[in-house]
Amino acid sequence: MNFSSDTSAPAHPRVIEAITRANSGMESSYGADSVTQKVRKALSETFETDDFDYWMAASGTASNALALSCFCPATGAILCHADAHIAVDERGAPEFFSGGGKLQLLPGPDGKIADAALTKALAGINHAFVHETPAHVLSLTNLTENGTAYGVDHVADYAARAHAAGLTVHLDGARLGNALVATGASPAEMSWKAGVDVLTFGLTKTGAMGCEIILLFGGAREKWGELQARAKRSGHMPPKMRFLAAQAEAMLEGGLWLDLAARANAMATRLAAALVAVPGVALAQDVEGNEVFVVLPDGVASKLLDAGAVFYPGPDGSHRLVCSWMTTGSDIDALVRAAN
Ligand SMILES: *Cc1c(COP(=O)(O)O)cnc(C)c1O
Repeated sequence: MNFSSDTSAPAHPRVIEAITRANSGMESSYGADSVTQKVRKALSETFETDDFDYWMAASGTASNALALSCFCPATGAILCHADAHIAVDERGAPEFFSGGGKLQLLPGPDGKIADAALTKALAGINHAFVHETPAHVLSLTNLTENGTAYGVDHVADYAARAHAAGLTVHLDGARLGNALVATGASPAEMSWKAGVDVLTFGLTKTGAMGCEIILLFGGAREKWGELQARAKRSGHMPPKMRFLAAQAEAMLEGGLWLDLAARANAMATRLAAALVAVPGVALAQDVEGNEVFVVLPDGVASKLLDAGAVFYPGPDGSHRLVCSWMTTGSDIDALVRAAN
């Protein structure tokens, strides 16, 4: 009954098999290996373009910070939701990697930046006024931190407005697979076709051991050299890159990552339905991906914790339960039995 996070789930067996396969013979290092080259082809098929560069890191924090630091100077700002992972859960990594870039926090319900807040922030950018910190990047998250999904049109609209104001658009896709399953969008539609310039494409939560891919699309590729330099300088250039690449290879092969995300989303839907049937339990958020935010009466929360269930507090007194590719119907049945 561990619903603490999708990061608590093990790696999918096909990921481990791919790592074992990659563990043979001599190979070039630092990304020049044959597995990394195969990943380029798989990414190109997944995102339906050849117009990209990519880098792999072992954590989402590193990927976000590296990606953002290429587009936000030390004297600039990044627009993001007030609850964004980059703002709340990364110990200042984006600010650190960018040498002091500032996060400008925007409000909005359901984990999404409110339309009016974005309009105001974009209108307020003034490069000529030396006292203010002009925004250079808009960072969106999909799934959002509230487990909701931005639709493609929403991303495209925000991206177009950010571009018109001269910003680069970053998407934190730590749970991109869950967002795609939730919205029915393709990877291309949710990224470069919607105007996303730089994507942090998370595979760890979906089922890898530790593999997050930074993709630079189109014009953003001009930062490729800088991204590599920053990766090296910050210690995110693993010599045996083939083992990160093997994870991506396995996850992309046959769309495994989307199958696993679909499984996790389906389990979350089932979990939410089972929980709201418990007297006093209510959803705090619509369930669109693999995360369930619920309001639990104190009695129910303590019954679950006493029974050994693991989950964490969410915003505003709610609780967050996360499903992963490993979650089964019997995990959910056991939880609901304990709640009653
Ligand atoms: C989990 C997560 C990350 C990455 O976190 P790490 O623990 O550094 O891998 C980034 N963004 C979001 C929205 C996340 O949920």
